Amino acid sequence: MSEDTGHRADHHGFPPYEVAPGEAYMNANQETHFRELLDVWRTELMEEVDRTVDHMKVDTVHCADPNDRATQESDMGMELRTRDRERKLLTKIEKTLKKLDEHEYGYCESCGVEIGIRRLEARPTADLCIDCKTREEELERVRG
Ligand SMILES: [Zn+2]
Repeated sequence: MSEDTGHRADHHGFPPYEVAPGEAYMNANQETHFRELLDVWRTELMEEVDRTVDHMKVDTVHCADPNDRATQESDMGMELRTRDRERKLLTKIEKTLKKLDEHEYGYCESCGVEIGIRRLEARPTADLCIDCKTREEELERVRG
């Protein structure tokens, strides 16, 4: 699965960063912006994970009726997949925050170019520039 499928941060109501003319890429202000954005996102995800766990506990208690069991199990499977996805994303966010601390955030891991504020705004956990990302996806398609 590709690194950032289906996850966008721009629906969290976080205002996009306004880049001033001549502003240096990944200066302290920009780093702070993305750190805050990722923090908010991480907190939301952790709350989401807690809710999913609670929900699953409730389901198990009400699992007495055998006729409901099939539905229940497929629900459970979906919950588990959601949790798995959330956990992977959390790991990714942690990794990204660490890169911010080390001032390595915002640069392509493959070719080293600036990923760009606008792309990071849409995909705060992106670690490849759009060219490398496109190439990677093409390779994945070829490999099947
Ligand atoms: Zn690149």
